[in-house]
Formats: sequence, C-alpha cells, structure tokens
Amino acid sequence: SRKALIAGNWKMFKTGSQAVATAKKLAQLVENMDDRDIMIAPTLLSLPLVSQNLEGTPVKTGAQNLFHEKEGAFTGEVSAEMIKAAGADYVIIGHSERRQYFHETDNGISKKIKAAFDARLTPILCIGETHEEKKEEKTFYVLDKQIRNGLKGFRSADELSGLVIAYEPVWAIGTGNVATPEDVETTHQYVRSLIMEIFGKDLANATRILYGGSVKPDNVSVLMSMQNIDGALVGGASLDADTFIKIIKFD
Ligand code: 13P
Repeated sequence: SRKALIAGNWKMFKTGSQAVATAKKLAQLVENMDDRDIMIAPTLLSLPLVSQNLEGTPVKTGAQNLFHEKEGAFTGEVSAEMIKAAGADYVIIGHSERRQYFHETDNGISKKIKAAFDARLTPILCIGETHEEKKEEKTFYVLDKQIRNGLKGFRSADELSGLVIAYEPVWAIGTGNVATPEDVETTHQYVRSLIMEIFGKDLANATRILYGGSVKPDNVSVLMSMQNIDGALVGGASLDADTFIKIIKFD
C-alpha cells in the first residue's frame, strides 16, 4: 500500500527567521512516524536554511516551483539542481495559483516535471478544476487534459517512478469549502484509472494522489480514511506548527 504524504505549502508567507522558527518547532513536535512522509515547502529564500535546520529529522523540504533549464541567462529563475542542492527532496509543480497568476501552461509544466526527475527531486503535479468548470461538469475533462499534457513526453512508467499528484479543486483552496471525501475519492479513482490507461497498472498503484483545499485538523482523518486519498497538500493550516502537527498526526 502507499505511504501517506502530508505536505505543507507555505506559499508566499514567512521571512527566513519566521520560517526557521516554525520548522524547528514542527520538528520538535513530530515523532518518528514510519507510516507517513512529512514535507514543508517554504519560499526559495528560506529553503536552504530551513533544510539545514531540519537535517536528520523526519520533516523533509520542498520548493513551490522551479524553472526547467539547468542554468543560463534566465533572470529571476531557479533550476531543479539548485533546489536539490539547497537540501530539498520535493517540488510542487503547476499549482493553480501559478497557472492562474503566472500563466503556467501544461506544456511548461511537463518540462518542469522532467527537470525535477532529472535532478532527483520528487515532483508533486497539481491539477484541479475551477468553480466554473465544475458547474459546467467539466471536471474529468479538465483533469484528463492536465494529466495527459502535464505528463506528455514521458513514454514509460519507469521515468515517472515516485511521481506524486495533488488534486486541488480551485474552489476549495483557501475558502473553507473542503470537497466531500466521497467526491474526492471518486475523482482520485478517476485519476488513478487514467494513469493506469496511459502508463499501466504498476505506476497507477504506486502513484500517491494527495488532496488539497481547506484541509484542517478536523477534516483530515475522514479524508485519509478513503482508499485513494494518499495524503494532503495543506496551505493555510500548515503555517502554524501546533495546527499542522494535528494534521500530520491524523489517525
Ligand atoms: P488551503 O489549505 O489554504 O486551502 O490551500 C491549499 C493549497 O493550495 C495547497 O497547495
């Protein structure tokens, strides 16, 4: 069975010292829980310092984005190799906020996924429909497109080993409107069957599919009880160590 992954996306919050303070506090609260992986993604400015402070603890780190080129004249960008060298194990790719505010496309996202694997980072590919698309009953159509195009260029399941997918319905992010566990389960089943169709049974069974969107201490356990929900990508509720630890310790 798949190991749970509880990941915190800190978005554009916390200075370096604030990020280190929260990370250290979280590491103190975390017990060794062999049955789950834990990750936080601070801003790139805080990433090296937070990673250093978490070394040897069960809390791993990730970046919230990368640029697909290895190096070069790309002012303002940071490569997968640089993120790996900063101590990260994961990278969030194609978050809806990046698609919405920074015009990321499935094509660019597929290059980022490739760059992440090449640098031995675990990519967390974010997908999800908007409120509009949900109303028009286009959810599966949208997810189908995001997955097929986001993973375009990968020919074999081997190349995608370790892939994590995060289903984050845009209407559930930061709104307090968590999707129902039943609806998430149905959607995750659809995503898994799609991976099976494109890349085969082994990758479909191994791929962790996280849910994101208003995950809180009081709704995480029911979500995690569903067979195809393999973890959570948490925004707001991951910013405070005392709150996030309650989500990490779901049972
Ligand atoms: P919230 O948990 O604040 O709804 O954010 C979810 C999210 O976007 C995580 O990537």
